[in-house]
Amino acid sequence: MDLKNLPPAMVSQLVTMVEDYIDNSRKKYASQAVPLTDAQRNVMQPFFPAAVLDSARLCVLRGTRVSNPSMYPMAKMMGIRNLPDFSEMAAITFVDVIVSHQEFTDALLFHELVHVVQYAQLGLKEFAARFVNGFVQGGSFEEIPLEKFASALEARFSQNRGEPFSVDDEVRQWREVEKS
Ligand SMILES: [Zn+2]
Repeated sequence: MDLKNLPPAMVSQLVTMVEDYIDNSRKKYASQAVPLTDAQRNVMQPFFPAAVLDSARLCVLRGTRVSNPSMYPMAKMMGIRNLPDFSEMAAITFVDVIVSHQEFTDALLFHELVHVVQYAQLGLKEFAARFVNGFVQGGSFEEIPLEKFASALEARFSQNRGEPFSVDDEVRQWREVEKS
């Protein structure tokens, strides 16, 4: 089915489900997550507010993977394809808890910290709404503006680490342009 034809009531139901998924996953992994190391902090410090670096927690999974939202079978039955497979992603951020399936590279950590800033500025509810609406409008995970923006800033970081910029400011400006 064309996702854009999903009834608004269905979309808002999906938003609530994604919100619950994020919140539950955050709680699930928070207890085994640890703060950034000093080395990681030093690399990220020119780009991120101290509060974000203080609050973010990292969890590297070994021998297990993040499970997908429980509503996936239902969504598939409804004919929604292209659902992002979180179990196959390098890492995923649940508010301030970053869960990774591999050791963190600087680029990966940077990308996920951009999501932490997005959550901090938008709040969980708005983040979930933008995530679902971005998917519905764009038709794939890669087209979700939250995601495209994080990837763009990650590329900027990777291309020139010597030129710091404020991710907090960038996200704020982006929100002005990308009203949900
Ligand atoms: Zn991402």
